Amino acid sequence: LADVPVVLSHLGKAYGGGFRAVTDVSFRVERGQVLGLLGPNGAGKTTALRMLMGLIHPTEGEIRVFGHRITPSASVLSRVGAFVEGPGFLPHLSGRDNLELSWAAAGRPSGDADLEAALELAGLGESIERKVKTYSQGMRQRLAVAQAMLGLPDLLVLDEPTNGLDPPQIREMREALRRYAATGRTVVVSSHLLAEVEQTCTHCVVMARGRLVAQGSVTELLSAATSVAVAIDVG
Ligand code: ATP
Repeated sequence: LADVPVVLSHLGKAYGGGFRAVTDVSFRVERGQVLGLLGPNGAGKTTALRMLMGLIHPTEGEIRVFGHRITPSASVLSRVGAFVEGPGFLPHLSGRDNLELSWAAAGRPSGDADLEAALELAGLGESIERKVKTYSQGMRQRLAVAQAMLGLPDLLVLDEPTNGLDPPQIREMREALRRYAATGRTVVVSSHLLAEVEQTCTHCVVMARGRLVAQGSVTELLSAATSVAVAIDVG
């Protein structure tokens, strides 16, 4: 399993008070895939991704990342880049300075950031030299994605990176994720829009009320009869 980026087995999460956000979810993600986690609000996507990022603990089942059982241990999580929600950047610093600062603040050696490679993959261009306070929402979100790409992690996990973006910004985000996967690395990304998963992802897992309801390649899912029901539910 050491070569498999993600294996989830019978994953479950009950929050305090006993509310079950995720129930018996199993799937795997292979290298080079862009896996979309699709589902309506409250389906449990964020909960599943936060477990994958090592931010919260499952109450049942397990997650293996490159064969290692995931716990918040640096040895595995150093291979995972995460985008949770637009983090607070320092508005009076340039995009580049913000990224350098966050890398240093994470205690990483300065030479290892592969900063230029991450910037190119994220498609930030020359705007990286501008102050963050001049950035559009789309630029900020791509800066956050570039931050997750620092060090070129083998697995990139992104929770709704296109939330709040307009169609051209969504296209740019898509291109960035595709470029990343084309390097042979792996991307897991959540969305509540079927069309977005269709255009961005190679594979898809559909969740509803905490459970996995469909999975497969995007082409398989779209041709399956269930895709009609899926589209009504989440599209
Ligand atoms: P969204 O797109 O709205 O973020 P989601 O699919 O990501 O939805 P989750 O955020 O994982 O879904 O939430 C799943 C369910 O778990 C929701 O009903 C939510 O209210 C509940 N939940 C999330 N976090 C907590 C928490 N810390 N404590 C209790 N319940 C929670």
